[in-house]
Amino acid sequence: MRVVFLGAPGVGKGTQAERISAQYRVAKISTGDLLREAVRMKTPLGIEAKSYMDQGKLVPDAVVIGLVRAKLADPSCAAGFVLDGFPRTVPQAEELGTALASKAMALDGVVNFQVPREAVVQRLSGRRSCPKCQATFHVNFAKPKVDGICDRCGESLVQRSDDEREAIETRLKVYDEQTAPLVRYYDERQLLSSLDASGTVDVVFQHLSQVLAPYQMR
Ligand code: AMP
Repeated sequence: MRVVFLGAPGVGKGTQAERISAQYRVAKISTGDLLREAVRMKTPLGIEAKSYMDQGKLVPDAVVIGLVRAKLADPSCAAGFVLDGFPRTVPQAEELGTALASKAMALDGVVNFQVPREAVVQRLSGRRSCPKCQATFHVNFAKPKVDGICDRCGESLVQRSDDEREAIETRLKVYDEQTAPLVRYYDERQLLSSLDASGTVDVVFQHLSQVLAPYQMR
């Protein structure tokens, strides 16, 4: 299974990628997680990426493409992968195609997660994240067992700086301008499936599993 999860920030791509990765034993490649880890470790790449991320802007293509190329070469991706948050621009999509072709691989499909804009803003502004294990919660919809503490690893939860209102607005604008054109890009290549991602995590997971079912047979 080699798939891309496409959609605006806050549509639940990361949550579903996590579940699909566990269920079907394929790698989850989240460029947001990889970048946040680089920021946390204060690597040169992380230092370069941080200012873009804090503002809700895209990190330059060359930086992200390098990260994804390295990850795709990893043996953990041999059985398949779910790409979460990549590609986000047409040049990234072109690079992904080239990188896969050089390994005699191709994408099986691209799932376009669709959620009404008001719901996306609600999901993002109430999101709380674990800086250590990257698990996410929500102040209303997915509360941790102990207020402010990660269920999984016990770390204190934080609001990502790019989940603050001003950055959310920028991220949605950046999505509309730079990422939304990928819907057409992949539709023209007959790779696109649409998914109503406005339900609960379990309901969306069920629908998503149906969408992905044909790819498991290959
Ligand atoms: P995410 O967790 O996917 O919402 O990503 C968080 C932030 O990381 C984004 O707002 C961007 O600043 C950066 N980022 C993640 N993926 C990409 C990408 N494919 N291209 C450029 N920037 C990215």
